[in-house]
Amino acid sequence: SRILELTKVNSFYGNIQALYDVDLHIDTGEIITLIGANGAGKSTTLMTVCGVVQARSGSVEYQGLDITKESPNKIVGQGICQVPEGRLIFPELTVQENLDMGAFMRNDKSGIARDLEYSYDLFPILAERRRQPGGNLSGGEQQMLAIARALMARPKLLLLDEPSMGLAPLVVRQIFDIIQKVNREAGTTIFLVEQNANLALKIGHRGYVMENGRIVLTDTCDKLLADE
Ligand code: ADP
Ligand code: ADP
Repeated sequence: SRILELTKVNSFYGNIQALYDVDLHIDTGEIITLIGANGAGKSTTLMTVCGVVQARSGSVEYQGLDITKESPNKIVGQGICQVPEGRLIFPELTVQENLDMGAFMRNDKSGIARDLEYSYDLFPILAERRRQPGGNLSGGEQQMLAIARALMARPKLLLLDEPSMGLAPLVVRQIFDIIQKVNREAGTTIFLVEQNANLALKIGHRGYVMENGRIVLTDTCDKLLADE
């Protein structure tokens, strides 16, 4: 079933138009990748989904309901969780406390201990560092923490904004493997925005290519990889 559908979305920053008639959909259980150069409009698309930017025209539907005019808080409450660019963890709080903050965001407070264990199984390095302040972690570990914290909110739809940014290829591959694992095991639907097209297309099911605020191409990731 369709979890997200954008129809003819136009978004602006003041007078500057950033998105032009964006059509995009995600089915439950998919990994969708949105790729494109810096400034193409990828982050704006994610922010329009989570209500930080409001579409001026067109519609955003989530699980069949129109969320175009809803506030970010309300959208989070419905199960859409964003890991913004730049891995915004709480540097003063320990790894464990960061994860507790994620659990604080969830609607269903049961099963937290089990999900915590699952997060630590996914990212063993975080289990090792659970009592250290988040600020002491390496860039890759902080990105892992940002993802694990979002998972503790038990999102139905997880939005990831350039998780590869500034990280070594080996670390990126490790993180992408885990994203794929979460999708398979926990069934979390994933919307992955990436400049690193090659790696993102390897884990995605379908992809969209964006240029100058417009979707210029969409196909299965296999097909997009072959055509690159
Ligand atoms: P991407 O994520 O693909 O790098 P963005 O969505 O961040 O692209 O940016 C799309 C366009 O919107 C760019 O031209 C960018 O300069 C512009 N833009 C992004 N954020 C703002 C903002 N806060 N104010 C004005 N223009 C912005
Ligand atoms: P169940 O319906 O029995 O909870 P799930 O298929 O939802 O099973 O989850 C399977 C495993 O994945 C469980 O160990 C669960 O703790 C973990 N899990 C599922 N979703 C998440 C999530 N969003 N964050 C962390 N762990 C999760």
